[in-house]
Order: sequence, then C-alpha cells, then structure tokens
Amino acid sequence: MKKVVTSICIIVLFICTKVSMIHAAPLITLTHWYSEANKIGAFDETDIDYVVESVTCGMTTTAFENTIGNAVTGWDSEFSFDMNEVSSSEHISFDCLTRSEATLMGINPYAVGMTNMTYYVSPFGTYYNPSNTIVYFHYMYHSDVYLIWDTVGYQSAKTSDYTTSQWNEISAHETGHAFGYFGHADSIYQLMYPYTQDAFEEPQTNDISHMDLIYN
Ligand SMILES: [Zn+2]
Repeated sequence: MKKVVTSICIIVLFICTKVSMIHAAPLITLTHWYSEANKIGAFDETDIDYVVESVTCGMTTTAFENTIGNAVTGWDSEFSFDMNEVSSSEHISFDCLTRSEATLMGINPYAVGMTNMTYYVSPFGTYYNPSNTIVYFHYMYHSDVYLIWDTVGYQSAKTSDYTTSQWNEISAHETGHAFGYFGHADSIYQLMYPYTQDAFEEPQTNDISHMDLIYN
C-alpha cells in the first residue's frame, strides 16, 4: 500500500518592525534543528493567553477543544507557562479550516495544520550555532494555529478520519511553532519532525531543549 506522506504544516511569517538591542553571540548547538529562516521566536513573557475559536470546519467542538487542550498542556508542563484561555487579545489563537478554506489561503493539499507566526523583525539576541551559523532570536506578538479538516482527502490524506492521537500530534506540533519554533527537526524521534507519524502527542527531548533556550 502506498504510504502517504502528509506535511504537518506550512509556516507563514509576517513581520513588523521593532527596535531592540542585539547582544553578543554565545555558542549553542541546536540538535536536529533546521530552518531556512535561522530564527527562534519567543513571547517576551510566560503569561500566555490563548483563544479557542468556535469550530466551523466540521470537526466536533469536543474533539477540537480536547486536542487543543492536550497541546497546550503538553507544552505548558515543560515550560511552566501561565497559560490562560481568554476570549480576546490573545497571544495564540486556535482555529480550524475546511480543505476548501485552506486551498483558498494557498495552503498545500498535503498540509494538515498550519501556523502563522507574527514576530518583530529586529532580533533581541543572536547565538552562534556551528551548523546553522548565526541564529537570531525574535520576539513574537501573535500566532495563529489552524487545523485542516478534510472529508474528501488528497491522495488518501483524509483528515476527517484521523484518530484522537493523530490530531493530538498535529495540534502539539503546531503549538510548538506557535511558541516560537521556526523550522523543523530532521529526526523522526521529535514532535517537530515535519511529517505526521502518529508517534508523539507532546514535545520530545530536542523539541524541549530547543525552546529551553528561550523559556527556561
Ligand atoms: Zn511544522
């Protein structure tokens, strides 16, 4: 049977300007990380508010709220964020799209999740990574996470059939981007590997050490 490789996400980056000091560049090694952007994002506080939008994609409200809850809890427990669900003015919003809505937004048909990360263009710090040269740290002010719910399927990638654990993996992966993980992991043993595996529902060792640079 043909294996369908489904891309978890596409990241769309928006920028705006903010002046800030660039510090000296200590050496770090980011294991299993790659990113064309060579950036790591972070909110400038750990009190992070999020909104779970009303479900309009076809997934049940319970399934959507549960999978977002799992993703938030998975990352929150690693970094001691003070995460609160609010109704507006949030750092992160969680929403879902039908496949047609995703296509209208230009999202590739293999994607099952997407995160838009909005960050300040001027970095607040730099690090030197031997394999990735200079890594720039940028503060973010908002992330939009989308799950893509598809009843038709594109070469068998019919996400309406996905199990709870599959959705949990996708939600947790996208939430990693929402916290500032640009790029992906090149290891299948990490949540931030860019393809669905149905293997993890929470961040793994290198996913955590990556975000430790900012949040711990
Ligand atoms: Zn991704």
